[in-house]
Amino acid sequence: MNIILLGPPGAGKGTQSARLVEKYGMRQLSTGDMLRAAVKAQTPVGMKAKAVMDRGELVSDEIVSELIDAELAAMSAETGAIFDGYPRTEAQAESLDSLLAKHGRNLDHVIELAVNEDALVERITGRFTCVNCGTGYHDKFAQPKVEGVCDNCGSTEFKRRPDDNEETVRTRMAEYRAKTAPILPVYESRGIVSRVDGMAGIDEVTAGLGNLLG
Ligand code: ADP
Ligand code: ADP
Ligand code: ZN
Repeated sequence: MNIILLGPPGAGKGTQSARLVEKYGMRQLSTGDMLRAAVKAQTPVGMKAKAVMDRGELVSDEIVSELIDAELAAMSAETGAIFDGYPRTEAQAESLDSLLAKHGRNLDHVIELAVNEDALVERITGRFTCVNCGTGYHDKFAQPKVEGVCDNCGSTEFKRRPDDNEETVRTRMAEYRAKTAPILPVYESRGIVSRVDGMAGIDEVTAGLGNLLG
């Protein structure tokens, strides 16, 4: 099974991907995570991407499609893929079609996490993750069970993304509206789009995805 999770920043793509990985043994392919790893490692790609990401704009289609190609090449054909944050432009959607064909995969579902934009700034500015294992949290909506301690690994170190501030989020939302939302009709014409209410609670969204994926 190969699926795309589509939705603006803060829609819950990362949160739900982690649960799908756990439940179905799929792999999460997040271009955002790959780019942040490249920035941290100071690779040529990371050096090029950093300023663009800090502004909340999109890095080049070639860079992200190459990252996805490399990940798919390294994966077993039996492992399903969750595309999280990719494709984000029409050109990337076309590249994904070629990459899926190249790696012998079919696209089964494009799932839109439908959210109200007004909620996104609060979601994004309250987001933090465990430094050690990457588990995602929120100041208000997804607090660790014990304050300051990661539920999953017990670490007490957390981090926040430099681009998770109100100004950058506005740019990221505008990029989504202008460049990413227009790819939905392409998939709609193929009859593979489903919508899940991303404004529901985290567990309810997971249940909605479960109903869809079986
Ligand atoms: P995305 O990957 O789409 O940018 P995340 O999954 O990182 O979004 O979610 C953004 C923030 O909102 C995180 O802090 C997460 O804990 C929180 N969050 C995710 N889904 C929900 C939800 N359904 N209701 C409330 N908060 C949520
Ligand atoms: P979010 O979880 O808030 O949706 P991501 O982690 O997916 O954000 O992306 C963070 C940043 O990385 C984006 O603002 C953009 O600069 C860059 N990025 C990630 N994925 C892509 C992509 N597919 N195409 C272009 N830029 C991307
Ligand atoms: Zn942890």
